[in-house]
Amino acid sequence: MGEHRGLEAFEKTQRLLVVAAHPDDLETMCGGTIALLAARGVAVFSANCTLGDIGAQDDRLSRSALAAMRLAETEDAARVLGIEQVFNLGRHDGELLPDLTLRADIARLYRLTRADTLLTFDPYWTGQIHPDHRAAAQAALDAFMPSKMPLYRPEQLNELGAEPGQISRIFLFATDRNPDVVIDVTPVYEKKIAACAAHVSQFPDGAASLEWLKEIDRGRGAPGGATFGESFLEMGVW
Ligand SMILES: [Zn+2]
Repeated sequence: MGEHRGLEAFEKTQRLLVVAAHPDDLETMCGGTIALLAARGVAVFSANCTLGDIGAQDDRLSRSALAAMRLAETEDAARVLGIEQVFNLGRHDGELLPDLTLRADIARLYRLTRADTLLTFDPYWTGQIHPDHRAAAQAALDAFMPSKMPLYRPEQLNELGAEPGQISRIFLFATDRNPDVVIDVTPVYEKKIAACAAHVSQFPDGAASLEWLKEIDRGRGAPGGATFGESFLEMGVW
């Protein structure tokens, strides 16, 4: 409805980076929005801080085997959504901390991808029970300012194509703080579900494993009058 913006909130976005914690966070949280923006020609980059290497209900696979599987699933999902490049920062699942090395690793990605728009979790959502989600988002926000400063980790600027950070728009997902952007993802919903289902280790029964997500996305779409939606809170930065 009137008080929510739709896709026009991303009108100026040309290069977008999603910073998440686990393989499948991007797909479930904002896969539809990413599909719509990639189709519009936005260069989309995905960064997961952890390997997702405890994401199993039993111990049949070793952590390294699970990590390898989840990296491959992330590549498959990225192809479905039209994501240009996937990064993984290699931290262990369930143990992520927003420390100075994570901040620097994320700042390096801002510089390398030359992203103008950042999407990440809302680290301030009091209901965010997953510590990795909070830590990834906190580190992503903490990297914003130093990434713009040439004297911060200057060796990063010697890498081919790197430039001081250029992010000027930040959108937070998984928030209860009155999201002001609601994207109608109904037209690409099958694509979103296909991208989520590419994470076979997590959703072995494909779309049938994702009824819970459809329910969430119905709720996220409702304030904007969409059958399925994804919502964001734009954070003012200047
Ligand atoms: Zn997660």
